[in-house]
Amino acid sequence: MASLFAVVLYQSRQDALERARDTSRNVALIAERDIERNFELYALSLDAVVEGLGKPEVMALPRALRSSILFDRAATAKYLGSILVLDAAGDVVMDAASELPRKGNFADRDYFTIQRDHPDMGLYISAPFRSRLRSGSPSIALSRRLSHKDGSFAGIVLMAINLQYFHELFAGLSLGSGGAISLIARNGTMVMRQPFDPKIIGRDISTASTFKRFGTAAEGSFFDTSFIDGVQRFYYFRNFPELPLIMMVAQAEPDIYAAWRRRALTIGTLMGAFAASFIALSLILATQLRRRVRAEAELELLPRTDSLTGLSNRRTLGEVLEREWRRARRTRRALSLLFVDIDRFKAYNDTYGHQAGDEALAAVARCIGDHIRRPADTAARYGGEEFVVVLPDTPAEGACKIAEEIRRAISQMAIEHAGSEYGRVTASIGSASCTPDDGTDATSVIKAADEALYNAKARGRNRVAVAQG
Ligand code: GH3
Ligand code: MG
Ligand code: MG
Repeated sequence: MASLFAVVLYQSRQDALERARDTSRNVALIAERDIERNFELYALSLDAVVEGLGKPEVMALPRALRSSILFDRAATAKYLGSILVLDAAGDVVMDAASELPRKGNFADRDYFTIQRDHPDMGLYISAPFRSRLRSGSPSIALSRRLSHKDGSFAGIVLMAINLQYFHELFAGLSLGSGGAISLIARNGTMVMRQPFDPKIIGRDISTASTFKRFGTAAEGSFFDTSFIDGVQRFYYFRNFPELPLIMMVAQAEPDIYAAWRRRALTIGTLMGAFAASFIALSLILATQLRRRVRAEAELELLPRTDSLTGLSNRRTLGEVLEREWRRARRTRRALSLLFVDIDRFKAYNDTYGHQAGDEALAAVARCIGDHIRRPADTAARYGGEEFVVVLPDTPAEGACKIAEEIRRAISQMAIEHAGSEYGRVTASIGSASCTPDDGTDATSVIKAADEALYNAKARGRNRVAVAQG
């Protein structure tokens, strides 16, 4: 049961991770498509400017007309900042925003220096910067090199994109309370991150362990601890196929497994309770079973009959008497008891030996057993040469009759007994009867029968005496 539980838990944990990976991949893919489509449009606009600048007939046009041809309507797109043409010294020579270019020199910017120093750069996406023309608004720029006919550097065309674009793109995405989504330049510069913190934008994370893994494949996922806030997260990354950018979607580990943890706890608690009650029940059953087995073994060890005579032994007599006593009290019927004692048996043993004594005992016992007929009647060896017969539902006269029959039968066996005044083995019998009531117990009837027996002995033996009462 425990291993089944473990397998189910393990699998649902894997499922949770798989779902997280799917979510991350979908989010990254959608963001990437949006960014790529926009960048494609920006790049086309940029190319159009470069192309127009190369046409003398366009350059010969009046300023206003030339501007409207060079900078098409893309210049008015929502997140687009300035579109500028810089000369080889980094000074603004054309400005999409105004006929008279705003004054500025951007020779220090990476989008300028990279294009200047790398003639084959093509489209360059800059690191984030604060715009000097647009009152510090955080931006990135796309730039293209302008070259003279001989290939020497003539300046650049640049298009600034407001980081607000990424900010709004990411802001609508929900990745759990500990989730994060980042756009990172391939050189390790943070372009945008959600949750947004202005301090993180532009930061170089190229030394972070997570970033190092982004370069290893086109896309992938792994667990790691965030370089930025120290939270253990599940990272999914995608390298843009066309742009030097990386999309990273991370979900905090507790968020991924929150539902799984709750379910595991519920199932675990139920399983625990179930297992505990199962164990408790098993223990109780085992104890009961052991007790029963022991009781049965004890019962088996304790014999119910007397080995010499085959009659019930004294223990059984006790049980029978107790049971019959209670029954008689319930049914208000008479219960009789005979106390049988062989006469002069010591003398018999002395004369004929112990072995012969045993045989005589067995013969007398058979005699007694033969004279009780009802299934409820019980004959038992009380001890030595004494026997007790329990006669349920038998009044005094009936008991007396049976006693007399037994006495006669013993005598008629005619076992020689020289030490007896009758010359044969005889027995004296005391009979007692009563109808039990709530105040009395079984020992009183034994006592009464014993007293009657004493009388029978006193009156000359080989006779039946009935208890008075
Ligand atoms: P009474 O007529 O007064 O009953 O005299 P008794 O000799 O029968 O009575 P007593 O109680 O003095 O002696 C009982 C004798 O029964 C003692 C013993 O020798 C004999 N006896 C008791 N149990 C056994 C037994 O298991 N086997 C044999 N062989 N003899 C037994
Ligand atoms: Mg005796
Ligand atoms: Mg005797």
